[in-house]
Amino acid sequence: LRALRWYAPYDVRVEDVPEPRLVKDTDALVRPTLTTICGSDLHIYRGHLNIVPGNILGHEFVGVVEEVGAAVRSLSRGDRVLPSCWVADGTCWYCRHGYYTQCVNVNIFGFGPVYGESLEGALSELVRVPYADTVLSKLPDDVTDDKAVLVSDTLPAGFAAVQEGGVKAGDMVAVVGAGAVGLLAGLCAKLLGAGEVIVVDVLPERLEMARSLGFMPIDASLADAAEQVRSLTDGRGADVVVEAVGGEQPLLTAIDLARKKGTISVAGFHIHEYTLPAGQLWLTEKRLIFCIGDPIKYRRELIEHIRAGRLDPSRMITHRLRLEEAPKAFEMADRKQGIRVALTP
Ligand SMILES: [Zn+2]
Repeated sequence: LRALRWYAPYDVRVEDVPEPRLVKDTDALVRPTLTTICGSDLHIYRGHLNIVPGNILGHEFVGVVEEVGAAVRSLSRGDRVLPSCWVADGTCWYCRHGYYTQCVNVNIFGFGPVYGESLEGALSELVRVPYADTVLSKLPDDVTDDKAVLVSDTLPAGFAAVQEGGVKAGDMVAVVGAGAVGLLAGLCAKLLGAGEVIVVDVLPERLEMARSLGFMPIDASLADAAEQVRSLTDGRGADVVVEAVGGEQPLLTAIDLARKKGTISVAGFHIHEYTLPAGQLWLTEKRLIFCIGDPIKYRRELIEHIRAGRLDPSRMITHRLRLEEAPKAFEMADRKQGIRVALTP
């Protein structure tokens, strides 16, 4: 069985690994048919998070059920399934209230012991999935792997950012970061009726992608993004800003781009602590909200948008490689080559 293991920063290898087995009767084994390398995998790749050497990476995937535990009710061998990258038990107070990303047993594939039990990742020929009835959902036959794979993490992250950010018809939405989360947040904003969508980045290739999707690109290396956004809104700023990079400076930029009483919806991956301009936020009554994105909560709705042709997340897949070439895929993703690399077994 082949899988991609992390050993040290910038050192990942495809190797033979022991075959995963069902541990609990609520588990399933899934054979991935398409996986991706997500921006948060890069935090591990670069050594920003402490995972155990030898852990299998990857958390965004679709696949086919190979085996189910005795207590699994909704699935059987051979079903095409869409997993949630976030694992939740489906039974705790948070799950029962629809807050799956805050489940008391929350976990994520491929993050080693960062979230408790060490879960092996999806860049593998076979993956153990806990709480299979909650984590997996059957995939309709008319939705291809290409269109479905980003629903296991990236698309719900972008969707949650604009949905929970309260985007309304006619709103001006600004997105900081033209990676897959940011661009999909832009598409979801349009779906919710947003007017102009502005996308801020510094990479020409990504800004061109933003333009091709119908957004107004702003190159932050050439112009002050906040000044540009204010000049387009009689000096106000954007109604809703999505921060889709992670880290202190992108968050401060996002706060700056929002109008008074506007909302900053934080979808980027934040690891470190830093000081926020609380006085300025209070005085301007800007609302700062944090959204991890919740595939279990949003996948049904998103799959319906995809089936109806209203959303096509497969446009983010710009490169394709085989699992055996995963180390090369990480190098490409690390260099921000293209938007999203997809891997087949
Ligand atoms: Zn739970």
